[in-house]
Amino acid sequence: MEEEYRRQKSGVRSRRADSNSSLLPSNFWVRVASLMLSFNLVYRDEYYLPIGQHVFAGQKFRLVQQLVLGKHLAEPEDFVCPLPASDDDVRLAHTEDYVRKLREGALSAKEELLLEVPFSPELVTAFWMHAGGSIRAAELALRDGVALNLGGGFHHAFADHGEGFCMINDIAIAILRMFQDRKASRVMVLDCDVHQGNGTAVIFNPQAAPAQAATSWSAPLLQPPRSVSVKEAPAGDVFTISLHQENNYPAWKPASSLDVNLPDGTTDAEYLSWLDNALTSAFRQFDPDLIAYVAGADPYAQDQLGGLALTMGGLKQRDEMVFGAAKSHRVPIFSVYAGGYARHVEDTIAIHANTVLAAKEIFAQRKVRTG
Ligand SMILES: [Zn+2]
Repeated sequence: MEEEYRRQKSGVRSRRADSNSSLLPSNFWVRVASLMLSFNLVYRDEYYLPIGQHVFAGQKFRLVQQLVLGKHLAEPEDFVCPLPASDDDVRLAHTEDYVRKLREGALSAKEELLLEVPFSPELVTAFWMHAGGSIRAAELALRDGVALNLGGGFHHAFADHGEGFCMINDIAIAILRMFQDRKASRVMVLDCDVHQGNGTAVIFNPQAAPAQAATSWSAPLLQPPRSVSVKEAPAGDVFTISLHQENNYPAWKPASSLDVNLPDGTTDAEYLSWLDNALTSAFRQFDPDLIAYVAGADPYAQDQLGGLALTMGGLKQRDEMVFGAAKSHRVPIFSVYAGGYARHVEDTIAIHANTVLAAKEIFAQRKVRTG
């Protein structure tokens, strides 16, 4: 395996040199194809969220795509353009009534306020696109081992309402579509956004309630850096893990299968230790056939809505650890982006682009895809 990988790498280097020649060899396009990623990136311009001046940069998805292409982390051929989710897809995770209200623009004032983004039919269309992208990424991950949706991650959407900038829960929709298509049966959700994945937790464990929020659990090998609390709840076909800042939105944190409540100011080293610990524990308890990775950019120290202290390098290490765990356990993984509200939007974009780089480094390059 390693030998094959090295051969591919050296082959890629020599092909790069060849491609500088003005005389294109007859198999030039085969060689170009060999520079493609070993996986696909899922994106379309319609991910743009038309929400005006907002702490959530509605244009971030396009900026990430432009940076990924500009830095040659990927080539245009690596991108896959998804179809929007169908209403039937959305109803897999959401109530008939909620989907109808979104389609008809019939949310109550209270429901609109809870969303914290201005409602419009265009916004509904955009969220359906993100959900379609997560479905496509899940399918591609099951085919290729890994796929990244350069969008999605709307983990605060519940079955019957949206909140915290999240209209519909693309993560749950994608997972339930894979269940329906019998492409997966046991999925692990690893949510590394700074905010707890409350919507996902409740969709997959409707009984989740504070009183049920499990017994305290302390890691046998790792002492909490300060006061971290870890909680467990029974898992069904979906094992949900959330690593988040305890002292942050949402105030009510329904039980995930495994919640790691991190204290304010958690640093790279502390975070990575807890992530490693959570992954080890989760894989001991649950044997997934697919992982949904919620790669939020908001654990970053400079985030306006986060209170952890991770650096950009630490966040990339996080991504590498997650992709590395999926690879070593031989479990297909798809990622979605979720939040990111850095003071400088370029930082959020760079953190999201680094997720592509981390996947590229862990999963190396594809064997020649075309002939
Ligand atoms: Zn967040």
